[in-house]
Amino acid sequence: MNGIIGMNDLLLETELTAEQEEYADAVRSSGEALLALINDILDFSKIEAGKLEIESVDFELVDLVEETVALLAHKVSGCDLELLVEVDPAVPRYVRGDPTRLRQVLTNLIGNALKFTEKGEIHVTAELLSRGEGEEGSAVRFAVRDTGIGIPPEAQKKLFIKFSQADSSTTRKYGGTGLGLAICRQLARLMGGDVEVESTAGEGSTFSFTLPLREAESTPSSQRIAAPPAACFQDLLVFVIDDNRTNRTILRKGLEGVGCDVETAAGGEAGLAAIRRRLDSTRPFRFVLLDMMMPEMDGMETARVIQRERFDPSPVIIMISSIGNRPARAEIEEAGIAKWIAKPVRRKMLLAELGRWMGASGRPCSGVDVRPLLEKIGWRRESPPRILVAEDNPVNRKLAERLLAKLGLDAKVVDDGAEAVDACRAGEYDCILMDVQMPRMDGLEATGLIRREEVGREGHVPIIALTANAMKGDRERFLAAGMDDYVAKPIRRGEIVRALENVLSKTNRAARTV
Ligand code: ADP
Repeated sequence: MNGIIGMNDLLLETELTAEQEEYADAVRSSGEALLALINDILDFSKIEAGKLEIESVDFELVDLVEETVALLAHKVSGCDLELLVEVDPAVPRYVRGDPTRLRQVLTNLIGNALKFTEKGEIHVTAELLSRGEGEEGSAVRFAVRDTGIGIPPEAQKKLFIKFSQADSSTTRKYGGTGLGLAICRQLARLMGGDVEVESTAGEGSTFSFTLPLREAESTPSSQRIAAPPAACFQDLLVFVIDDNRTNRTILRKGLEGVGCDVETAAGGEAGLAAIRRRLDSTRPFRFVLLDMMMPEMDGMETARVIQRERFDPSPVIIMISSIGNRPARAEIEEAGIAKWIAKPVRRKMLLAELGRWMGASGRPCSGVDVRPLLEKIGWRRESPPRILVAEDNPVNRKLAERLLAKLGLDAKVVDDGAEAVDACRAGEYDCILMDVQMPRMDGLEATGLIRREEVGREGHVPIIALTANAMKGDRERFLAAGMDDYVAKPIRRGEIVRALENVLSKTNRAARTV
């Protein structure tokens, strides 16, 4: 699957004719569907065999929920559908639990909502039901509400039975296996909750589950996007123009949560009038968050008027729209739009973006970083970082090579652990991507050898494990073997970038202190 999905992703980035792109895109979606199916079946057999264990690690809850939704956002593009996410600010930010399984249940429920909703809203929420100390933890309720086809009472009873669907025409029309909800329920139960459904045929459904989550013991450090500290936003005046009331409320709550003052309007005309009124006051709007799809006067049109009227001071316009509605870059620039953000809006991303523009609007603020990998970590050497890849599968080798080249890194690729050890003796590397399962010498053994040879010498080459079967305990096993991080296959660009950023920025810091 790594080969199919990864290579096809690379293919999609090349110059293709429209026809080729259509075919490659079909390969992508079929690949994703097949991967989902395989994972479902694997999960189910693990659950049935009593082999599925729930992890307990620290993670950032808000990020997890928002990212999960963001990953599915492309599915609503071009539809008459809003995908909204809202995390109650009272929910503890860092918790202890199983992020992978939580993400899986959410993904599944949101995936279903997307499948069975043609228009209206899908609203994903996380709210705090009760705050608990210590062992017992806080109760957090996660819910996915949709305005889709709904489920009649009779069918609701069968939903959680494996291989069953609401009615027999479902497979023909929507596909699927009837495994998703059965797995969700089992996973939720293993995590200490249960999945419940409320639904009215023809109106929509809400699937929800409540989990006990303890506060994290430490603060996880994987900050992918750094939002500026909340102090930066104190009293910042932000104006939201959006016709969807739920959206306005979410943006308002998210921004007020960090100290902004928020005003809203439900349409372009009303919005423009408010901006004009504000110009004469002592506090004009610094930022305008503009929804793209609005009746009567849409976001682009509104932006153009703001641009044309040359307001002074002119507000920074941030456009918010679904991915499919993104206009051409030239058009965005010409309308004076500073930034285009895809729905659903992730709070941290929005704050990071506001922070980035605050300097421009007279409020200096730091802590935001959206540059390419090497620039971001401030790579100090003239030559790019040297990465050694040990991987026995030829397709994966090629995939890793191309990905690293695209990131501006210098890669050397070898076939197994023994060769990796040899390569390490012969040259210096800034990082090793090490497949775990390889013939001759596997990744764990090779790592052990490399670490032993480092004893008495200066230095520590970071090793990132590449692994297909991330089972509970694997992480500990890899770390115990001397690895620094791990990335699950199929390899996704974002995951690799995160891991490389993590280890290379450490290398870089070490270099600085020498
Ligand atoms: P699958 O989606 O693979 O068919 P699931 O177990 O996830 O399997 O779902 C079982 C059935 O429950 C679906 O086939 C569908 O009939 C019904 N269902 C699940 N979620 C929704 C929803 N949000 N709206 C309407 N029907 C749903």
